[in-house]
Amino acid sequence: MRALQLVDDRKLERVELPEPEAPAPGEVTLRVKAVALNHIDVWGWRGMAFAKRKMPLTIGAEASGIVEAIGPGVSNVLPGQLVSIYGARTCGRCHHCVAGRDNLCENVGGVHGFHLDGFAQEKINIPARQLVLAPPGIDAVAAALAPVTFGTVEHMLFDNAKLQPGETILIHAGGSGIGSAAIQLAKKMGCIVITTVGSDDKIERAKALGADHVINYRVDRFEGVVRKLTKKKGVDVVFEHVGKDTWAGSMFCLKRGGRLVTCGSTSGVSAEINLMMLFQQQLKLLGSFGCRMENMANAMQKMARGLVHPVIDTEVTFDTIEMALERMESRQVFGKIVLRMD
Ligand SMILES: [Zn+2]
Repeated sequence: MRALQLVDDRKLERVELPEPEAPAPGEVTLRVKAVALNHIDVWGWRGMAFAKRKMPLTIGAEASGIVEAIGPGVSNVLPGQLVSIYGARTCGRCHHCVAGRDNLCENVGGVHGFHLDGFAQEKINIPARQLVLAPPGIDAVAAALAPVTFGTVEHMLFDNAKLQPGETILIHAGGSGIGSAAIQLAKKMGCIVITTVGSDDKIERAKALGADHVINYRVDRFEGVVRKLTKKKGVDVVFEHVGKDTWAGSMFCLKRGGRLVTCGSTSGVSAEINLMMLFQQQLKLLGSFGCRMENMANAMQKMARGLVHPVIDTEVTFDTIEMALERMESRQVFGKIVLRMD
């Protein structure tokens, strides 16, 4: 079977691997259907360069698949069903896992596509407990976006920032995968959404997703526009994933008692914090990583009901993967790039 492996930083190769054996107890053999690509797949996780990565490594951190065979003792899925795959090998036994907080697992065995082989292979054996059943009305591409794209955002907005209807939120990089999901989820709950984009041609697309105000951050300073739009009050919530370049401005945009939730640092991991602003303004800084499996189920329910939809920039195959890498490199992407496995 074919697989896509990272053999060195920024170097991907198509390889042939042996098919997986029959599934062990508690395991399932999946035929992978779609893999949503992330920056981690191409050049690693910025800010996590300290972590040792094994090479070669099969890439793919978020994906969907069809159950092909189930091992002894598996009862949560059946052959033929479409499932979304939780991206970390959590233990299922610690008190966090038992409470449904897999992303706080005390015995995590690694993240697929980073420490462990990922999903860009035609078949994979995987513990059944990492699978979340896709509801009717969901296709393989939508199910592939539940773990990292929509699941991460659900966890950030609703579990961590506790976003409320009627609140104002600033969402950085509305054209990114998580940005395009966040705009839709926040708007559907009745929030006023301000977002940033890096080029004028993305403005109308961000508005079509539900953004009330779109700022081209290359033309205007976002913090100034946000202060003006909110009549100097600031926003209730900032959705951060840019890091160094936007951090000070993001803090400045918050109203008294505001919440900043972050899941990334694509522009750099170190930033200064004005402590006086932090305590006087009573700001709350919330770190978020991954999601609960329930976030994936909730996201897929919303997609099935048509409340939100996957924003797909391009679909590629094994044979056209270079196009995906070039697009990711160019930062011209709006939404997600998906690798179709069939
Ligand atoms: Zn655990």
